[in-house]
This record gives sequence, structure tokens and C-alpha cells, in this order.
Amino acid sequence: MRWPVLWGAARRSLGFRLALSFLVFFALLLLLIGILFRNTLIRIQNTQMQEAIEGDWAAMKGFLQIDGERVSWVTQDLDDETAYVLARLQRMLLIADSTGKVLTISPSYGLLGPESSEEIQEALRSGQVYWRIRQDPWGIRYLIRSSLLESGNRRYYVSLGRPLTMNEAVVARFTWQYFLTVPVILITGGVLGWLLTRRALRPLQDVVRTSESITGSNLSLRIPPRGAGDELDRLIETFNRMIERLEQSFEQMRQFTTDVSHELRTPITSVRGHLEVALMSARSADELREAISTALEETERLSNVVKAMLALSQAESGQLALRREPLELASLTEDMLDQFRIPAEEAGVRLASELSPNCVANVDRIQYERLLANLLSNAVKYTGPGGEVRVGLKSERSEVRLWVEDTGCGIPPEHLPHIFERFYRVPQDNVAGKKGMGLGLSFVAWIVKAHGGRIDVKSVPGKGTRFEVCLPKVPAVASVRS
Ligand code: ADP
Repeated sequence: MRWPVLWGAARRSLGFRLALSFLVFFALLLLLIGILFRNTLIRIQNTQMQEAIEGDWAAMKGFLQIDGERVSWVTQDLDDETAYVLARLQRMLLIADSTGKVLTISPSYGLLGPESSEEIQEALRSGQVYWRIRQDPWGIRYLIRSSLLESGNRRYYVSLGRPLTMNEAVVARFTWQYFLTVPVILITGGVLGWLLTRRALRPLQDVVRTSESITGSNLSLRIPPRGAGDELDRLIETFNRMIERLEQSFEQMRQFTTDVSHELRTPITSVRGHLEVALMSARSADELREAISTALEETERLSNVVKAMLALSQAESGQLALRREPLELASLTEDMLDQFRIPAEEAGVRLASELSPNCVANVDRIQYERLLANLLSNAVKYTGPGGEVRVGLKSERSEVRLWVEDTGCGIPPEHLPHIFERFYRVPQDNVAGKKGMGLGLSFVAWIVKAHGGRIDVKSVPGKGTRFEVCLPKVPAVASVRS
């Protein structure tokens, strides 16, 4: 891999970018600290140097004797230490009179060059103390103190100083040592930071790897949570929940496709069979008509299955929005019962009801009617002549209870857990001509769930079945429509 490619890949890595940001931040911080320390060191050294020169100045006044233009020093009875002090302060010294004429100048000062007589006169006029840094031809720098000195009613200009060599060497040493250590600290810190962020972000790579290996046929994969309860664990949980939801909807889709193809195959084969028989073996127009009419009936059934399937799939995929409003369910239920009186009478089934008034629930009118129609049509369909279907409605503390019970054939216990599944039908040996689609109760289950309610079924084979639906109640509502 070429460098630009590597650099590009590294820049896209979160760990690398994090480590780099910290590195830049610490580099700037260390640079700032270094500059701050260096300046403080220089300031302290300058102050110390000024104090030392002030000491020289005070000592010099004790030894110096100026008489007119004659400069002499008190040198009798000096101990070694004092002699050393005197010799040192004479090393960088210039004395001039008030006209600017140099009376004495040390050889070292001579290398710096004496001040001009104008400068000297100006300094004497102002009476101030001047601090200057001067450099000799070899680049050695000196701190020079210049001011006036009064002796015997005459004014003299005196400059003395010390070399800055030692101070500058200390600063240079500090600078080199500090700025050589900084890169080492930065490189170590950067590598450590990068390793640590890589370690901390490793679960993210797991997320990436897992999501890369997830396909439509491999949705059962989950990322194991680390149990740290941090942001990454929350991300992993969210990711796992998302995959779970995806898996569920994929499963629903798969199931739906299987159900549809299975359900449509039988009627299509049947239509085809009837038409083939008509084409090949029908001899008269009556036989032909009969075959076509049977095929038409099957087509009708096919069309009903498709319509019911589409409605259910729309509902389950959330495309069917509920329009809920507080409704008085007793009158709605009564209206629905009226619609079933004739079919029930034809089937020889008695319809009875016990509907309490003031049963108000927040429901979608159309879906409530659909729910009741499905339960009622099943009850009538699976109850033989002479049987009875009872519908009840009762208002309870927080919900409205609706039940539809019949004295029909009942449902064997092993089938009960499945009757709400799509296309599930109990083999009804004893109920001839009761062929349904097996979609009605799936729709009922969806309607109840969408309303936040629950449904229960109890059945005794040969005795009857009771469906009970509980819908959340609306507390006190100002305007109630029925
Ligand atoms: P279908 O169109 O076949 O009636 P449903 O989804 O409405 O489909 O019902 C599923 C199955 O539950 C039916 O095939 C039937 O065997 C059983 N079932 C539903 N309601 C009753 C009932 N009241 N009495 C007996 N069996 C019932």
C-alpha cells in the first residue's frame, strides 16, 4: 500500500483521529508550558544579575576615590576575598567626567566601546540609572549598569557590568533539554493513547464486523453486550434491538409469502382443472356452463383471499392508521347484531344479547365493526341449527368487556393456541360447507392489539366457544358519539 492510501485509511479511523487530536493538544500545551518556564527563568536570572551588579556598585563606592580627573582605589589591608571582589568589579568598568571624557576604562569595556560623550552628558543630565545589554566582538553579552556618581561636588558617569554567559548557558541548557524531552513524551503518549483508544473502540469493530456479516438469511446474529453499561453497551443494545425488529419483519414477510403462495395454489389449480376438464371433455353447452360457473366461484374465492390478505398485510405493516374516537359501544354493537339477524335465522341460530349502556371506549368505528362482524360470523358459522349465540357488553373499572359466545362445535384444545395465526383453520369434519380463509381471527387479533386491548378464548369441543375482548376505557369524555 502506498503512503497516501495508508494515510487516508488512518485518517478515517476514529481511534487515530482521537489520538492525533490529543497529541496536537498536548504538543501545544507542552510548548506553552516550555515558553512560560523559559521566560520565568530568564526573568529570575535577570533580577539576580541586577541585584549582583547593584552589590558591585555599592562595593565600588567604598573603594573608589576620584579627585578631579584622577581615579584611584583603596587597596591597603585588603583580605583575599575583598581583593577578589574589587578585581571583579574593575573588570568591566568605565568612568567618565561630566564633559564625557573617559577617565578610566577596563580592557573588556574597551572591547564594547565607550559611550559617546553626548550619551554620557545626556545620562548625567537625567540622573537616571540605565540598564543595557551590550555585546563584545566575540558575541559575549554583558549587562551594564550606568548612572551618575557624585564625588567632591563633581559629577561622574560610571558604568559597570557583568557577563551574561553563565545565565545564557543555563537557559540554553534548559531549552535544549526541555524541547528534546517533549517529542519523546509526545511520541510515547501518542502511541499509548492510540493503543488505548483502539482498545476502547474494539467493540465498535465488533459491531461493524457483525453488521457486515448480517444478510437477509442470517438475521439471527447478535453482538454480545460487554456488561459495562456504558455508551458502547447502549449502542450494542440498540443495534441488537434493531436487528431483532428487522428479523421479525423479515420473518413476517417470509411467512406471508409462504402463506400466500400456499393459499393461492389450491384455488388456481382447481380453476385450471375445471377449465381443462371443460375444454377437453364437456359435450354440451350445459356441461360447459357448469364448469365455467364452478371456475368462477373459485375465482371469486381467490379474489376474496387476495383482498383479505392485502388488508391484513396493510394493517400489520402499519399502513392502516386507526381513527380512534370515544364511542358508545352498546348502540354500535346493537346495530351490528341487527345485520346478523337474518343470516342467523337462516342458519337456525338464535341471537341473544346483554348490552350494558355507557360502555364508552376510544376505538376506530370501522375496525370495531370489523372485529365484531368476524366474531359474530364465526359464531353463527360454527353453531349448528338450534344453537344460540350470545353477545355481551359490560363496562368495568378501566376497560370495556365484550364477549361473543356460542353453543357450537367448539375448538379442540390443541388447536386453540393457533387460531389467531394467519390461514390457520381447524379441520371441521363435522361442519360441512364452512370453509373459511383462516384470516378473520388474525385480523381480530391485530385490531385488539392496535387498540391496546387483549383477547381471550375459551372453548369446550361439542359445547361451545367464548371469545372475550377487553378494550381500554375512556374516563370522562365531554362529547360522546355513537
Ligand atoms: P375462518 O375464515 O376459517 O373462520 P378464522 O381466522 O376466523 O378463519 O378462524 C380460524 C379457525 O378458528 C377457524 O377455521 C375455526 O376452525 C376456528 N373458529 C373460529 N371461531 C370459532 C367458533 N366460534 N367456534 C368454533 N371454531 C371457531
